Amino acid sequence: MYRTRLFAIRHSGKFEWMYQRLEKLMIVLDPVFARIGYNRVEQPVALIEKGVKGLLFDCKMCGQCVLSSTGMSCPMNCPKELRNGPCGGVRPGGYCEVKPNMLCVWALAWDGSTRMKGGNKIREVLPPVDRSLKGSSAWLRVSREKAAKLREARESARTTIAQAFPAARANEPSSAPLAEEPSRAVNKEQRQ
Ligand code: SF4
Repeated sequence: MYRTRLFAIRHSGKFEWMYQRLEKLMIVLDPVFARIGYNRVEQPVALIEKGVKGLLFDCKMCGQCVLSSTGMSCPMNCPKELRNGPCGGVRPGGYCEVKPNMLCVWALAWDGSTRMKGGNKIREVLPPVDRSLKGSSAWLRVSREKAAKLREARESARTTIAQAFPAARANEPSSAPLAEEPSRAVNKEQRQ
């Protein structure tokens, strides 16, 4: 698993691309999930997520995935579970202070971020881990939140357009002037 984790960090740019596609797909599927019931799909999706991310990233299913902000290096593998790292104890060669045989999760995170389009996200301070979300599907929660935001934006755009109509009607002239007839049409009538 450790080797796969290193592989994922070496190919963080490709995994970032795949993650973005997956998120888009999950957003498209939002009406389907809503119809079935998010509480019903939670368990099967969480199981798939656990399998895939466990294999690729040694994911611990914290429920608030930050891989896209940490160079695809899961911070839950840091023995101190630091959410903003690294700590001050990184050994020479980038090895962990607590586990000397393991490369520092955060040193790897900074490395992985350099290969990602959104790599600068690593500079944003991450909130502390919310333990109540442990075991839940981060994929489902994030895509559900994004789908709700998109819906809200669409509804607000429609409301703005609908509200603009009465004002436009009030300003519009009672009878619009007719456009001039094309000269060819006029000549045709005269010919008849
Ligand atoms: S050296 Fe890195 S992985 Fe080890 S405890 Fe510190 S931040 Fe975590």
